[in-house]
Amino acid sequence: MAQRVAVGDAAGGSERPSRVRVAVRLRPCMEKQGEKAEGACVRGLGPQSLEIINWRNSTETLQYQFDVFYGEQTTQPEVFMTSVKPILPHLLNGQNASVFAYGPTGAGKTHTMLGTQKQPGVIPRAVREVFNLVRAQEKEGGDWDHTIGMSYLEIYNEKVLDLLSPNTQDLPIREDKDRNILIPGLTHTSLSSFSDFHTHFIPASLNRTTASTKLNHRSSRSHAILLIKVEKSQRAPPHRQLTGKLYLVDLAGSEDNRRTGNQGLRLKESGAINLSLFTLSKVVDSLNSGVGRVPYRDSKLTRLLQDSLGGSAHSVMIANIAPEQAYYFDTFNALNFAAKSKLIVNKPFVRETVSSTVSGKRGRQEQGHEAATQPQ
Ligand code: ADP
Ligand code: MG
Repeated sequence: MAQRVAVGDAAGGSERPSRVRVAVRLRPCMEKQGEKAEGACVRGLGPQSLEIINWRNSTETLQYQFDVFYGEQTTQPEVFMTSVKPILPHLLNGQNASVFAYGPTGAGKTHTMLGTQKQPGVIPRAVREVFNLVRAQEKEGGDWDHTIGMSYLEIYNEKVLDLLSPNTQDLPIREDKDRNILIPGLTHTSLSSFSDFHTHFIPASLNRTTASTKLNHRSSRSHAILLIKVEKSQRAPPHRQLTGKLYLVDLAGSEDNRRTGNQGLRLKESGAINLSLFTLSKVVDSLNSGVGRVPYRDSKLTRLLQDSLGGSAHSVMIANIAPEQAYYFDTFNALNFAAKSKLIVNKPFVRETVSSTVSGKRGRQEQGHEAATQPQ
């Protein structure tokens, strides 16, 4: 049988590593007024499936299955309640968890993870919930003290950078004798309340995300990783200590940078992004299929997440996709990355039925192949 690596597994690594749950979230169409409406090239089929035009043969559609499909009407609370909230109680039992947003730039990763003030995303909701869980447990009594703390870092060009202490250099990733992954020198800030979190996190995250949304902006070319640590210590002997780590990750854009003719630094960045996302896909694949070596060490991203992805950890990947044709190939690639299964169905994709909100604008049936190979 193929070798399996179970990391952070209290039972000693003999159990099968846990699967990574994969959700796909389709954002609403964002064609601006006055722009030629070309129609969506993706649509949902049910709570776990969607279809997309097959660019190789426009008489076919490709149907994909996931653990969850979130259509364009899905709200921020729904994403949080169904994909993230259920894994958080494990942190208080000393288990680790991770949530990733994957997908091309512009498809909604930051919206899903960070959101806006009016529509907060997974990060603020999860941190608030961790505080709620800890408070509820302390109210119940018991002999444990809890502390909550955060670190915030970025992986850029295979370098680990501290976003809470911006002038530091590339930080090393280490593993201790219990197979916990550590980053010596990384700032760790204790948090006494949710508003404390806000104070530390928002300025650091705004630095990263607001300057520009251009494809080549740094925020789309690095992985932003928020770590929330819950530490429990027993007041009375034997003074047991338990640590649960939650990683909340806004990944670099998954678009294929070779197509945009990148050179020099951009090409180097692209190489680093491709390496870490490709390794992440291999890690998720081998965890979910249960075969093959899990290649955590092949990139900084997966090495850093080794104790929080697979093993006894609880992980969910939210692949964000956009419906517009300009995104067709990026969507196609993101779906192939995320899918549990793919089926080719011999039936043309009829655009009028994509969605009742946009169908009124569209008067014609288009054939997928031509439309898909001519991005806007
Ligand atoms: P990414 O981080 O993947 O590059 P963003 O999260 O910045 O993408 O999303 C691109 C744009 O689409 C932003 O203006 C964002 O507000 C909007 N957007 C993304 N997802 C949604 C959604 N589910 N509902 C409404 N607007 C969204
Ligand atoms: Mg973003």
